[in-house]
Amino acid sequence: MAEMHDQLADWQRASCYLNGEWSALIDAKVSVLDRGFIFGDGVYEVISVDTLGGMRAPFRAVPHFARLQRSLDAVRIENPLGLEEWLDLTAEIIERHPWQRQLVYVQVTRGVAKRDHPFPVGIRPTVFVTTSPWPPIPAEQIERGVDAVTHADERWLHCDIKSTSLLGNVLMKQYAIDQGASETVMLRDGFLTEGSSTNISVIKDGVIATPPKTSQLLPGITVDGIAQIAGQHGLTVDVRPIAARELKEADEIWLCSSGRELLAIVSLDGAAVGSGAESGKPGPMYRRMHQWFQQGKLDDARSWAAQRDAHQGRRQTFERTA
Ligand code: PLP
Repeated sequence: MAEMHDQLADWQRASCYLNGEWSALIDAKVSVLDRGFIFGDGVYEVISVDTLGGMRAPFRAVPHFARLQRSLDAVRIENPLGLEEWLDLTAEIIERHPWQRQLVYVQVTRGVAKRDHPFPVGIRPTVFVTTSPWPPIPAEQIERGVDAVTHADERWLHCDIKSTSLLGNVLMKQYAIDQGASETVMLRDGFLTEGSSTNISVIKDGVIATPPKTSQLLPGITVDGIAQIAGQHGLTVDVRPIAARELKEADEIWLCSSGRELLAIVSLDGAAVGSGAESGKPGPMYRRMHQWFQQGKLDDARSWAAQRDAHQGRRQTFERTA
């Protein structure tokens, strides 16, 4: 077994938490009757972790668990853990691994039962948490930008639920790859929804616009972070429906997500984004926002460190007085 572990790729060396037990990721097993496996009957979160100013911290952990709660409520799975327990688990999975940058993965499924569509009664949700190393975003993608293609959004009408039923998104991501692009930007009824695994913003005349949070797209933690950071720098984000035509007329288009942070889309369906000297390159707004975002991550890391210190202090006081 030890030899087998030696030959593993970095991510396979991770450990994981499965229903209260810690084990090596490759040794963890769930039943084939788990409804996550059978029906995609589960929800998840992906939380990025970076080390900034000597602090290793998840980005916006509390909003991630608030969204997990909303997803669980939407599919009527009872949240098996409270917020503090989720935050402790997040801190623990990070601590158990040496990587400076990680992507923490959290999944809750309805649990194990005989295969049948109705919600089973009296079963426990399956809770799975793991992490993997998160390589730096390639400098080339930041400096040169990425290419994207458009496609009709053919997914279901509850894209606001972060469901593990991701077949529609998987097919859209593969569509991009098959076209030699990095992301598929989806359109429904002539309006922008989102990318296959990212939120999309359109920049015109110095104004950042993003589509409203409807059931047609995932309310992204990163796009919210960007809106907040933009606000701190005196920019407002215009939240409104964005017509397909506006993508063609945009000065800049951005994609963002926990795993990819913020990248400029520099070509869409083979046509350069933007006009003039900046056409087909990451624009000036992107370059500024990208810098501000890194600063915003540092601010967030400071508040995570302060929250954890306060939490530890409360725990020690409790243990002393108990
Ligand atoms: N939209 C979709 C469909 C996604 O899968 C993701 C992330 O995986 C996002 C948007 C971005 O969300 P977040 O910023 O919370 O990672």
